[in-house]
Amino acid sequence: MRGRWTPSPELERAAEYLAARLGRAGLKPAGDSASFLQRLPLDMIQILPDSFAVWLTGHRPLRLVQRVDYMASFNTWSNWNASGQAVVVHGPLGAPAAFDTVSLAGRVLLLPGGWGNHYRRIANWKPAAIVWLDDVPAPPPGASLRGLPRPTRRAVGDTMPVVLVAYAALAPLLLEAKLDTARLRRPPDSVLRATPLGDAVMHVRGRVQHLPHIDPANVIAILEGSDPVLRNEYVVYTAHYDHLGVGPPVNGDSIRNGADDNASGTAALLAVAEAFARDDRRPRRSIIFVFVAAEEFLGLGASYFLDHPPVARSGMVANINADMLGRNWTDTVVVVGLRDSDMGLHVDRVLADHPALGLTATDSSTRPNEAPNLEGWSDHSAFIGKGMPFLYFYSGMHSDYHRVTDSAEKIDFEKLSRISRLMHRVGYAIANADDRPKWNPASYRRLVELR
Ligand SMILES: [Zn+2]
Repeated sequence: MRGRWTPSPELERAAEYLAARLGRAGLKPAGDSASFLQRLPLDMIQILPDSFAVWLTGHRPLRLVQRVDYMASFNTWSNWNASGQAVVVHGPLGAPAAFDTVSLAGRVLLLPGGWGNHYRRIANWKPAAIVWLDDVPAPPPGASLRGLPRPTRRAVGDTMPVVLVAYAALAPLLLEAKLDTARLRRPPDSVLRATPLGDAVMHVRGRVQHLPHIDPANVIAILEGSDPVLRNEYVVYTAHYDHLGVGPPVNGDSIRNGADDNASGTAALLAVAEAFARDDRRPRRSIIFVFVAAEEFLGLGASYFLDHPPVARSGMVANINADMLGRNWTDTVVVVGLRDSDMGLHVDRVLADHPALGLTATDSSTRPNEAPNLEGWSDHSAFIGKGMPFLYFYSGMHSDYHRVTDSAEKIDFEKLSRISRLMHRVGYAIANADDRPKWNPASYRRLVELR
């Protein structure tokens, strides 16, 4: 399916395939006009790479090189032209700030590892621009700087410049400011701090071109609950079925298959939906299954679903998201949010009652080589944004992530089937419980109120 780019004929075929399977399973369509497809009108932009420039002035002036030192491939609708004193904001983003956040207005904020689930909080500080500090992958040889047209949503209204800058590009400045890269990546303390990058002022400039609109589809089905009252409440399962399409060739291969990201989660969700449909013992609450488009563009499909829900949003009690389930450890599944609500107790109970699943759940903080800020990592982030408790099933990072080498023969299908069973039983338990899930108050404060 040529990497299921949003938009593409192959993404359409994948949507039709999912809709046909859900129809055969006997599930109720919950898209537009009694179909399974919910069209999402998206705007399209083309970033004009030659127009982009990122540079620093001050006693150590620096001009950054695109695709080596920085990337400007984020969603934007407007042209950028911003400057401000460079300030590194470091520590856990959900933590109380050790400084007056008013002082950040008009600055260019450098965030190690990105904004996680806290984009709103950071945007409210009114910075001039946001810089996501990370490792910028070197472009494949011969790659064009000209990015593909990409979807965005004008309605999102975010016009703030957002660029990804490599730690390495700023190494001398970070050193001078006594900021250690390893400590920035994994902050040891529990307070948020702000450190100016000396006297450096950062400048960001770039232009985008607007293209005709597109309308890819989320694929949505509902299973009605059995209880006359509780059936008006919904557990919402999500998995994105889009991926990154075709890119510059690497060793003769140009298709980013997205087998793990996220054919694995899509297959799991389809299996879960079919298992619910086959079972005569309906849970008391209803279930919504959402196969999401345009996740790879900052979760556009999930946020559209939540802004245009097929049922009242107040009735949605929880989100269970699946994204990348097929790699790494045979005995462990990462469940982000495990201790952020009482839903983790259902996970504990299912695992204790079903040792044959052969899985231990971790909330990821105990595993090495994990990306930080997993709460903001996938479609569950949009649900957290609406205050909904969540569980995000995940099987860890690998070196094939977003590359042409994320291919099907590397998937551990046996483990994928066990995680699917776990997700089914956990969702069943949540949908059947007397009470709707409750946030752990400290997590609610960190992830929702301080978002
Ligand atoms: Zn993904």
